[in-house]
Amino acid sequence: MPGLMGQMMQMPLMISSLIVHAARHFGDTEIVSKRAEGDIHRTDWKAAELRARKLAQALARLGCGPGDRVATLAWNGYRHLEIYYGASGSQLVCHTINPRLFPEQIAWIANDADDKVLCFDLTFLPLIEKLAPGLKTVKHFVLMTDRAHMPAQTGIPNLRCYEELVEAENGDYAWPEFDENTASSICYTSGTTGNPKGAVYSHRSTVLHAYASALPDSLGCAARDVILPVVPMFHVNAWGLPYSVPLVGAKLVFPGPHLDGKSLYELFEEEKVTFSAGVPTVWLGLITYAQQNKLKFSSFKRTVIGGSACPPAMMHTLEDEFGVEVIHAWGMTEMSPIGTVSKLKSKHDALDPQARHKLLEKQGRVVYGVDMMILDDNDKPLPWDGQASGNLVVRGPWVIDRYFQHSGSPLVRVDGRDWFPTGDVATIDADGFMQITDRSKDVIKSGGEWISSIDLENIAMAHPAVHEAAAIACRHPKWDERPLLVVVKKPNAEVTAQELLGFFEGRIAKWQIPDDIVFVSEIPHTATGKIQKLKLREQFKEHRLPGT
Ligand code: AMP
Repeated sequence: MPGLMGQMMQMPLMISSLIVHAARHFGDTEIVSKRAEGDIHRTDWKAAELRARKLAQALARLGCGPGDRVATLAWNGYRHLEIYYGASGSQLVCHTINPRLFPEQIAWIANDADDKVLCFDLTFLPLIEKLAPGLKTVKHFVLMTDRAHMPAQTGIPNLRCYEELVEAENGDYAWPEFDENTASSICYTSGTTGNPKGAVYSHRSTVLHAYASALPDSLGCAARDVILPVVPMFHVNAWGLPYSVPLVGAKLVFPGPHLDGKSLYELFEEEKVTFSAGVPTVWLGLITYAQQNKLKFSSFKRTVIGGSACPPAMMHTLEDEFGVEVIHAWGMTEMSPIGTVSKLKSKHDALDPQARHKLLEKQGRVVYGVDMMILDDNDKPLPWDGQASGNLVVRGPWVIDRYFQHSGSPLVRVDGRDWFPTGDVATIDADGFMQITDRSKDVIKSGGEWISSIDLENIAMAHPAVHEAAAIACRHPKWDERPLLVVVKKPNAEVTAQELLGFFEGRIAKWQIPDDIVFVSEIPHTATGKIQKLKLREQFKEHRLPGT
C-alpha cells in the first residue's frame, strides 16, 4: 500500500535546463576560450545556448535520433560545450574521447561506443585522417572550426565544417523533455584492468551531481566566480564543471590545448580567474613558471586538486607562497566523478595549524548523495577510527551500476545493498574524513602489513632534489614484498640514494622506509597522466633489493 503521495510537479531533471537557466539569468556572463586555432574567442551564456539549439537542429539534420552517440575529440572550448548541450539536450549521447590515448585505443573505443558522429578539433585532423578508415560506425566527421580553416584536401570522407552546420540552422528549437534516466554522456576509463570501459551518465545523475558539486563544502562555485577548468572535458566531463558552472551562472574560461605554465598563467591573469581545477601534474608547470619569473596571482583564490593524491608539499607551496587555497578532492570516472572533498568542520578551528592541515591533506568527507564504507577482505565493514584500512566501496545516484556493453555486475552486495568497489584502500576517521592509503591493485604488503606507496611518494616529493617519485612493490624472500622507490631527479639537482633514504628517517615508521632507490630519467605515465605502476613493476621485476 503506498502512503500519501507527494503533490509536487513531475519535472524531469534535464541537462538542457542548466544552460537555459544560465542563458536566462546570466545571459551576458562571458565564456572565454583560447582556441586550437591560437586566438581568444569570447561569447556568453545567451549566445552559447542559442548555438547549442542550432547544433541540436544540425545533428537531427544529419540523421541522428534518440540514443545515437556523438563523439568528441576536443580540448576545453566553447564548441565542445555546445556539443555537450546540443547532443545531450536533444536526447543524443555525448561521448568524450581522450585524445591522449594511443590511436588504436581511440579507434577501439569509438567502435565499442558505436559512435555515429565524430566532432574533432583542428589539432586532431592528422590523427583522424589516419583513423577514419577504421572507424566503422562513424557516418559523419565534423571538424570543429570555420570554413577558413577547413583543409583543401583530405582523405576523410564527407568531412563537414562545424561552423557551417551551426550557421545553417535558425535556432527555432524547443529543448525536449524526456525520461531523466536517459543516457546523456559516456566516458571511458582506463583505470580498470583489460580494455577501457565506458561509464554511461544520465540526465538525472548529471544534474544531481552538478547540484552537489556546487555546494560550499564541495567545490563551492558561485555566480561571482571566474572558473577555469584545466581538467579536460574528456576526463569525466571536466569533473562536472560544464554543468555546475551554468547552474551557478559563473564566467567560464577554457584554456584549449594551451596547458603549459606560461599560457595558463597569462590566461589566469587576463581573465581574472578566481577558481580552477586539475590533477597535481598540471600545477607543477604553473608553479615552476610563476616561481622562476617571481610572479604572483592577482585574482586566483582557490583550486580543486584531485585525480591523484595531492602531495602536501604542493599544497603548501600554493597556499604559503601564492595564497591559493587547495581543495583536495577524490573521485572516479565511475562516480561522475566527485565522491569526497576535504573541507573542515567548525570544531576543527580549535586544532593547531599543523593538525588542521593534516586533515586537509586527506581526500575528505563525502558530499551528500554519496555513501561510503571500508571493508576487510571478507567484505565486513571496518570501523571509522582513522586507523583501520580497507577496501573503499561507494553508492549513490551518480555512481555507475554497470559498465557500458558489459553484462557482469561490478558491484558487491553488503548489508543487503549494492556497492561499487573503488579499488582504493582507505581509512575513515570518526569525523568521516576519508584518506586513501593505497590502491588494491597497487599496494605494498610487507609481512602482512600495508605500506602506503602514496606516503612514500609524498615524502620523496617533499625533497628538494626530487622531481617525481613512484613506490612499487618488489619481491622479497622474507617479507614477500618490500618497497622500491623509483625517482626522477630535478634537472641539475644532486642527491644520492643514501641521502634520500636518510630523508625518510623520522618521517615514517622505520619498517616502512623503502629498501632501495633507483634513479631513472623518466617514469612511465598513462595517457591520463597517472604513473603506470604495472609497467614499472614489470621493468623492475628482476631488481635485487640489498641483502637478498
Ligand atoms: P579516474 O577514474 O581516472 O578519475 O581514476 C580514479 C582513481 O584515481 C581513484 O579510484 C583513485 O585511485 C585515484 N584518485 C582520484 N582522486 C584521488 C585523490 N585525491 N587522491 C588519491 N587518489 C585519487
